[in-house]
Amino acid sequence: MLNYFWPDLYLEKVTVLDEELLKKYNLKGIILDLDNTISPWGEKTIPRDVVKWVKKLQEFGIKFCLVSNNSNERVREVAVFLGIPYVARAIKPRRRAFLQGVELMGLKPSEVAVIGDQLLTDIIGAKRAGLMAILVTPMASREFIGTKINRFIESYLLKRLLQKGLKIYGPQGGLNGHADKR
Ligand SMILES: [Mg+2]
Repeated sequence: MLNYFWPDLYLEKVTVLDEELLKKYNLKGIILDLDNTISPWGEKTIPRDVVKWVKKLQEFGIKFCLVSNNSNERVREVAVFLGIPYVARAIKPRRRAFLQGVELMGLKPSEVAVIGDQLLTDIIGAKRAGLMAILVTPMASREFIGTKINRFIESYLLKRLLQKGLKIYGPQGGLNGHADKR
């Protein structure tokens, strides 16, 4: 059962994903979750280091698409700010929005990774859609009430995954583990 939730990579934050890791996994596109992945929930701003990270990888030729369960208004605002396409009200973990994201970037599923902070929406959905799944630790503890219930389950699942050997990649270029075990 745990296999459904096993991320291909587990990163402390999105900015840990650099050109080297992208090359290693032959990735050309990234589907980004919004809340608590690139922006603390309920906040309007995207942290400066995240914006810089997006720009840097875009220069490197990486495409992005925002895929979020949040409202059209919220998702569009961030997507326009970053200059990337988006799918709002995505109903993750359903596959459709992820596949739409792949299409919007004009890439093949094998070239795309999903990055998100939730096992029950981002990770299981990415895996069901046949995409590489990258888990990040959530940015803020404040969140949507519905998410809190998922979190309860997710903290249990994450504890089990860590017990089974899931490793987190740290920020200072140090790869302290590998999460390829399935
Ligand atoms: Mg999220």
